[in-house]
Amino acid sequence: MEFALSSVGKQWWKGNLHSHTTVSDGRADPAAMAEHYRNAGWDFLAITDHRRFGYHEDLHKDNFLILPGIEGDMDPEVGTHHLVALGDASWKDKHGQAFTLSAAKANGAQHLVDALNAEQGLTMYCHPVWSRREFADIEELQGFSLFEIYNHGCEHENRTGLAVLYWDSFLRRGRRLWGTAVDDSHSMEGDSLGGWVMVRSDHLTTASILAALRQGHFYSSSGPEILEWAVKDDELSVQCSPVRSIHFVAYEGRGRSFHAEPGQRITEAVYRRRGSETFVRAECVDSKGRTAWTNPIFFA
Ligand SMILES: [Zn+2]
Ligand SMILES: [Zn+2]
Repeated sequence: MEFALSSVGKQWWKGNLHSHTTVSDGRADPAAMAEHYRNAGWDFLAITDHRRFGYHEDLHKDNFLILPGIEGDMDPEVGTHHLVALGDASWKDKHGQAFTLSAAKANGAQHLVDALNAEQGLTMYCHPVWSRREFADIEELQGFSLFEIYNHGCEHENRTGLAVLYWDSFLRRGRRLWGTAVDDSHSMEGDSLGGWVMVRSDHLTTASILAALRQGHFYSSSGPEILEWAVKDDELSVQCSPVRSIHFVAYEGRGRSFHAEPGQRITEAVYRRRGSETFVRAECVDSKGRTAWTNPIFFA
């Protein structure tokens, strides 16, 4: 097997896949939110207001992309489930329209996933810990390809942003879900600029970014940078900005961690596959605990 994340596209594009504005319960209007991310060095932003399709054509700039988006949710009586859907050019006519679920109680959260998929969106399951979902509550859900492993807004609000263990549980069951770090920002401070994806693709266009997201051609981060994530034969390697530790997380098998000497930093590590792993992914953790997560490489 041979794969190198840097070779699947020409450039890295930094983006936030989950945000709210005054169209729903956010505090900044869409134009201010877009400017905020653009000024901070982000290349794209998905505006995903609750139950309202956002296309925001007027906010596009040459070097800054708005991804069409929406966040749908279930009636809390049935159990809270939130999913973001990212749309394409076909969403232009939906801008501003409300998203409503009918007969949601019939088959629970699957109904929500199916309804969002019916809009031709790329769907992402959001913040399961904040929603107080146990893994068993979502294990049977089908039809989404992105999974929030770090939601900065939830972490900021009440320490419920991390869902990496849920992700590994899905992966161990053979589910090919790509892990995302997002802001879920409702303002321009605190819950903002703390979780992002770095997408590797040729162009900063909706089609190019969505295609890369569908294929897992990105990594997620709350701080460190990943320069390369590659596999050749049985050797997996990661290169990153200076960090304290690089972890190779593997199931089955036990993976391996590499740590810098006290006061030092490391920028690369190599893991030799033992043979029983069904997938391997890497995490680079800096001295403040901020993390960059690669997507898994599958061997089964
Ligand atoms: Zn939500
Ligand atoms: Zn949200």
